[in-house]
Amino acid sequence: MRMRKVASKSPAIYRLLDWKDIDKCLLLSVLLFIYMSFYLVWHLVTAFYTDFGAQYVSPVGARQLSWVLLFNLSGYLLLILWASLLRKVRRQSPLFVHCFVQFFGVSFLLLGLMFGLYSPITGMVLLGSPLVGFILFGFRPVVWGFTVSTVMVLLLSWLAARGHDIYALYFRTDPAAKGYLSYYWIASTVAFSVPFVAGVLTLVSLLLRRWVYREAQVRAMAVQDPLTGLSNRRALFDQFAHEMARARRTGEALSVCVMDLDHFKQINDRHGHAAGDTVLVRVANLLRECLRETDRIGRIGGEEFVLVLPDTGHEGAEKVIERCRAALVGTPVMLDVGEPLTVSASFGVVTALAGEQATESQLVSRADDALYLAKKRGRNRVEFWSSAMLEVATA
Ligand code: GH3
Ligand code: MG
Ligand code: MG
Repeated sequence: MRMRKVASKSPAIYRLLDWKDIDKCLLLSVLLFIYMSFYLVWHLVTAFYTDFGAQYVSPVGARQLSWVLLFNLSGYLLLILWASLLRKVRRQSPLFVHCFVQFFGVSFLLLGLMFGLYSPITGMVLLGSPLVGFILFGFRPVVWGFTVSTVMVLLLSWLAARGHDIYALYFRTDPAAKGYLSYYWIASTVAFSVPFVAGVLTLVSLLLRRWVYREAQVRAMAVQDPLTGLSNRRALFDQFAHEMARARRTGEALSVCVMDLDHFKQINDRHGHAAGDTVLVRVANLLRECLRETDRIGRIGGEEFVLVLPDTGHEGAEKVIERCRAALVGTPVMLDVGEPLTVSASFGVVTALAGEQATESQLVSRADDALYLAKKRGRNRVEFWSSAMLEVATA
């Protein structure tokens, strides 16, 4: 029920999406260089050492694919060098991103030309790449890259359909054709699709998980005090209203306490604001330890806290709050430098019994009056609100 403090830094893996464009291009270029290297190894083994190669691969196509893969490898190598240079001189370059996206399109188009543009891999690349591109690089370079590649695919397919011999140049016999379907080719297609699909899915799931994480963060920030991780004023009053409604329904008593640290300004003045913040965090932790899971704690102002104790009458509240008070003065706060600091607080408490008509803000205001009395009576003490108490307070 109690809130945990939200980490201010997102996990490293989500930050990959916030990398600079150059760094993302560099990572992808390295991965694609490795991918193309695997293609080259596969090609050399397939064309020259397998039965599949002897039966299906055309010698001219094999030579062409060697050149295509060397071209692709050189291209990605150049992109790696270019990106490294840009990183060194700490420059961003939209031109580089455009070149990377266009070269990506060209490198897969050439593979499509070799293996047949109407293959599963071409489909996956055409579908997966814009998705990845939009996630990593935004709209403009990807739309350009996608448009150019799609036009090229259509143009080359049209030329092939008109009878030009440019379809699946690698093969003399189509290994996906009726009557010639090859297991080796099916296995190879799967082997080259899996890393690509896995990469796309990983990135998409990363993006989705980051959305969920950020939404949780934003939601937490709306209800949490960033310093202590306790509920902020708004959340505390929401919880209080919820508990009051429950108490009215069940007829149980409920107690509310306003707590204010004593002479806190002096702590700031003597030890600095950072030390004051440390004290606030320690006090919050101590309150968490002293109270039940079902109790609500909020920091509603600088050094003012509100405690809502459901199902707690006058006697119970007296015990709990006295325990908090004693724990606070009995636990000196260790600072980074200097002596441990003894901190005390004053507490004003009000108990709402069954049938209580007062609103939540009226109850808090009563607890505030009791707190005022506690301060007046010397601090480091607990006072309960009663109608008679008002006369003492104003005396
Ligand atoms: P009293 O015993 O009468 O409550 O005296 P006090 O000095 O605690 O009361 P006062 O309201 O005069 O001072 C509150 C101080 O709390 C003033 C402000 O500098 C400090 N403060 C408020 N918010 C923060 C915070 O987030 N961090 C730190 N370090 N100090 C804060
Ligand atoms: Mg104070
Ligand atoms: Mg105060």
